[in-house]
Amino acid sequence: MNGAALPPIADVLVVIPAAGSGSRFESGAPKALFELAGQTLLARAMSNAAGMRGIVAIVVAAPPEHVEQVRALCGQLKSAVVDRGLVVAGGADRAVSVARALTGARRAGLEYSIVLVHDAARALAPVVLFDRVADAVRSGHPAVIPVLPISDTVRRVDASGTAIETLDRAALRTVQTPQGFSAELLHAAHDAASAAGIGSSSSEILAAITDDAGLVERLGCRPHTVLGEPGAMKITRRHDVLLAETLLCLANSVT
Ligand code: C5P
Repeated sequence: MNGAALPPIADVLVVIPAAGSGSRFESGAPKALFELAGQTLLARAMSNAAGMRGIVAIVVAAPPEHVEQVRALCGQLKSAVVDRGLVVAGGADRAVSVARALTGARRAGLEYSIVLVHDAARALAPVVLFDRVADAVRSGHPAVIPVLPISDTVRRVDASGTAIETLDRAALRTVQTPQGFSAELLHAAHDAASAAGIGSSSSEILAAITDDAGLVERLGCRPHTVLGEPGAMKITRRHDVLLAETLLCLANSVT
């Protein structure tokens, strides 16, 4: 695997969907623009992604009414892979936001063979996780997802809230981002989704597809898993901020 640790060329495009309204977050502004210890979630996600090996560029899908604000944020980061021009307006659903970012990358003429899609809401995902996922794609897996084992008991419930069955947690994992794909596969998955009308009227299908792995599975591809990281937790609700702040303090105390 030593060869995979040093890619000879820049081969990775990072797409960051950041256009969610953050309705579960109750901050008033889009969640990606929420400041965690003085830096927005989006800026933190971009900075970590920018540190990975082999990165070509970062494309951000911004909340449509905040595109200029996100462009300004990109300018402030002063990173060679973060370009103001690579901020696109996101869509009404995550899948549409990612599709728009991919279209933006193609229009900009960027060259890459791997795409990592990373939620701005997972702002503290460490650089090592980006490298781990990209290396797994480089080693031949066309779709790669980082996962963590489950420690809670998980039950299925019916519409009335009655518990129906306990699931075997040994066979279950929670899924994080960044998720990595061969560029060819991810483009094909989004093109197929768009041709099937996903993102326009099929909200029922979209509700069941919460990530890009779900889209490539529609093409018959089974994602490979790698170990995730606690720091890649999704910041969904306000109490997640407390946990994220604690993780930041711990990280700062060991550096
Ligand atoms: O809503 P959820 O928590 O699944 O969102 C995951 C990520 O997708 C977040 O970073 C959010 O900003 C992004 N998103 C998006 N466009 C949407 C909805 C969510 O880019 N329409």
